[in-house]
Parts: sequence; C-alpha cells; structure tokens
Amino acid sequence: ATPLSVTVSTGRAARMGVLVRSAEALETCGKVNAVVLDKTGTITAGKPTLTDVLPLGVWHRRPDDLLTIVAAAERDSEHPLAAAIVAAAAEKADVADVAELAQTTDFQAIAGRGVTARVTFRGLPHTVAVGNTDLIDDLDVDMPDITSDTSEIASETIHDTNLDAIIADMELLSQQGKTPILAAIDGHLAGIVAVADVPKADSRQAIELLRKRGVEAVMLTGDNPTTARAIASQVGIDERHVIAGVRPERKADEIAKLQSQGYTVAMVGDGINDAPALARADVGFAIGTGTDVAIQSADVTLMGGSLMGLVHALDLTHAAMRNIA
Ligand code: ADP
Ligand code: MG
Repeated sequence: ATPLSVTVSTGRAARMGVLVRSAEALETCGKVNAVVLDKTGTITAGKPTLTDVLPLGVWHRRPDDLLTIVAAAERDSEHPLAAAIVAAAAEKADVADVAELAQTTDFQAIAGRGVTARVTFRGLPHTVAVGNTDLIDDLDVDMPDITSDTSEIASETIHDTNLDAIIADMELLSQQGKTPILAAIDGHLAGIVAVADVPKADSRQAIELLRKRGVEAVMLTGDNPTTARAIASQVGIDERHVIAGVRPERKADEIAKLQSQGYTVAMVGDGINDAPALARADVGFAIGTGTDVAIQSADVTLMGGSLMGLVHALDLTHAAMRNIA
C-alpha cells in the first residue's frame, strides 16, 4: 500500500502545479542525485526570436529575399527555431503568412538537423536547405567540408564567400548564446540566420537550489557546444556538465550513461525528441507547456513550466521519505 505520507505529498505537489503520475515516481524523486535538463523550452523559454541575417555571395544584395525563401522552407516545420524565422519574415514583409510571398513543396524535416524544401519565389523554383552544419555536410552543397580545415579548396568552390569568415561568424553568434543556422539555396551556401532564446526568469535560481540540495544539473541539447555553454553559464551550469550536439535518438543513451555511473537520474524535457530520454530516466519530468508526447512519456508534469516545480517535487519527497524512515 502507498504510505500515507506519499499520498499527502502527492496532493501537496498537485497544489503547487506538480502533477505526479504514481507514488513510485514520487518515491524515486527522493533518491535523485542528477538532473538532466533539455535546453530549448526547458531551461530557456522556448520562444526564440530571429536576431541576425547574414547573407552570403549573391544574396548580399537581396537579404530580404533570402529571409523570405528561408522562411518558406521552414513554414511547415514544428521546430521552435523555424517558428522564429517564419514569424520574423512575415513581419518584415508585412504579410499574415509567408505563403503569400513564396510557395513551398517537397518539405522534409530532418530531426536534429533542419529542413529541406523546394521554394518557388517570383516564379523561380529553388532547392533550399536550412539547418546546422551536419545537414549542410550531408547535402551536395557547393562547399566540401566546412567543419574541417580545408579552407583553400573550399574558398575556390564557394566563389566570393570566404569559409573562414563564415566559421568565425558562426562561432561569434554562438558565443552570444544564439543558434546559427545555415541556409543553402540551389546548392550554394546563401547565408547564416541566427535565432536566440533566453533562459526562463527562474531557471538560474532553480539550478542553484538543486546544487544546494546536492543535486547536480546537466544540460542535454542538440544545439552546438558553444551556444550550449553560453546558455549554461547564464544559468549557472558548470561547462563540464554540458552535453551538446546530441542527436535526438541519442538522448536516452546519455541518460543510461549517467545511470551506469551510479546516478539516479531525473530528466526534464518538453519536446517530441525528449520522449525516449524521459522514459529512460529514473523519473521523467515534462514541461506542462511542452508537447503531448513528452507529457505522455513523463512520470511528472510541471504545469507552470518552471524548473522551480522540480525543486518543490524533490523537497516534498525528501520530506516524505524522512517520514517513512
Ligand atoms: P534541442 O535539443 O535544442 O531541442 P534539436 O535536437 O531539435 O534541438 O535540434 C538540434 C539542432 O538541429 C538545432 O540546434 C538546429 O541547429 C538544427 N535544427 C533542427 N531543426 C531545425 C529547423 N527546423 N531549422 C533549422 N535548424 C534546425
Ligand atoms: Mg526542447
């Protein structure tokens, strides 16, 4: 039978907006000594905005057209980064929907990488790819390998765009905590757009309170390591506890790795990508404003969306466990 103290705690948690699915989950909370936090939508607000458009090559003369074409490619994506780009493009052109400016077909989302699509703009069809360096590397973009040191070969093939400058720009944007996104149009690198998402107001405080309770916070993200570390430092997560560049299907493996090191792991996430990791963790917390898939995979739902709910849940169970002992 469920100890009365646990039942009482479950009710108390619910009044604080922490919905616990089972007594077992609440009991496990009392043993948690590592908390893994997804970055986008969990530590940050999950409402990114477009901050920069850096056109390359021929697009220097047409920065607004570049943004329109990129937004058209992203129009059917469910990713928060895409929403930021689409909203900014519509606002800039003063239209309700980017579909009024360009038509999109053959849309394809590649999890953890980006999107590809065909975009017809002013009657001309274009092949468009928008995403991270992995996506661009995978495609036949006129740029051999931007992650390795082949700048001489590269600068020949990408004409007037200097590869070193592109890499430097991306690094600088990342250091500012922004996510740089590459756009390729018709097989040529066409620009960098950057999107930024700020931490939730109380993320830093929650992470500090966790540390005071002897619980280490770890950031787990598909975003690039530089951006991830910049956000981590804003919320007080040690850079040694940043696990970045993780493909969606590998997130659960990172949880298992911590478990094999002897940790009892809580995972907090909001996205479809986070569902396997939430299920793998000893106790999974879904952000209440996140996707249904994440909520269904979790043991606990944080209704308010704040990480302070997690601190409350751990405090309640520590108290409940003391009552049982
Ligand atoms: P997170 O762990 O932050 O939720 P994801 O695994 O969803 O991140 O994505 C990882 C990375 O893949 C993003 O930081 C971005 O660089 C790229 N990416 C994914 N989807 C898109 C998209 N629709 N447009 C542009 N880039 C994308
Ligand atoms: Mg997320």
